[in-house]
Amino acid sequence: MDPSPTGTTAAVNWDNVSDDVACPLCAYNLRGLAEPRCPECGHRFEWSELLAASVVHPWLFEHHPESNLRSLLRTLYESICAQRFWTSVRPTHRIRPKRLLAFLMAPLLLTTVIPLAALMVRQCSQISSSNQQMRTAVRANIRKSDPRYAQYLVAQYGSVEAYMNRFYPVSPIDCLWRWYNDLNRNHTFWWVATRLLLILLWPLISLLTLLIFVRSFRRSRIRLIQLVRCVVYASGVFVIFAALLAANLGFAGSDFQRWTPSGYGTLVVSILIYELIFIRNLIQAFKRYLEFPHPMTTVLASQFIAILIGLQLAVLPTFLTGQLLF
Ligand SMILES: [Zn+2]
Repeated sequence: MDPSPTGTTAAVNWDNVSDDVACPLCAYNLRGLAEPRCPECGHRFEWSELLAASVVHPWLFEHHPESNLRSLLRTLYESICAQRFWTSVRPTHRIRPKRLLAFLMAPLLLTTVIPLAALMVRQCSQISSSNQQMRTAVRANIRKSDPRYAQYLVAQYGSVEAYMNRFYPVSPIDCLWRWYNDLNRNHTFWWVATRLLLILLWPLISLLTLLIFVRSFRRSRIRLIQLVRCVVYASGVFVIFAALLAANLGFAGSDFQRWTPSGYGTLVVSILIYELIFIRNLIQAFKRYLEFPHPMTTVLASQFIAILIGLQLAVLPTFLTGQLLF
């Protein structure tokens, strides 16, 4: 393409442009237009920016696979400063859906899987060593007591070893199973875990509720992937939050009795703070990036519905287990 002239608002000589030019927000074909404004969705742009072969963003994770960690951290950091972020990232910056998904999933998987695996290994080895101690005590007991006790165990379980394996298992698989059964009885764990799951699902719930509002507005032709980009980068704050929560759950919070009512309070207050930051980020995205007519009303109304859905999901385990988890 050779746009001419390439001034910011000057008209384009379409004879020099061979390809079709699509609006980045709604994919409307802008070919032949004089004014740098999409008649379909109202997006304002600069011809030079739109006609450039490819605009590479200086630090955005989507555009920098050659330095994944650095661009990930930079994008996470910048996404918290929503006003600056959505002034810097433009609809003309090409969207790479796989990398958008990676931006959301990679830190979540890493920060959730690693601490939970660490927790699993530690708990299992604790169960194993305490069972080992019990085995020693039981053996000493058998030696000291009436030989009829050992005979009773053999008659009942086949052998003393079989009795030990049943009540004081030391193999990793058996210890894992024992730990799982302990967790099943531990309501505090499930209380925290369901909230962690809800935080992980929050971008998806938010996207679905936003869709209802965006599709019913005049700007209904905005491409879904543009909306996904807004929700993904606004969710950067949840990625950090879920990481902190998962790390706490995995490394420090294994003793669930320590999750006292004040612990719950801290969790609820943290969720509220992160939700407020998320809402602010989304409003900025809708205002600066999508140039949506009523950004605040749209975001607040859709988040209100998302919160109602979230509350329903949060009490779901209560119905499933029949026990009050709050
Ligand atoms: Zn458009």
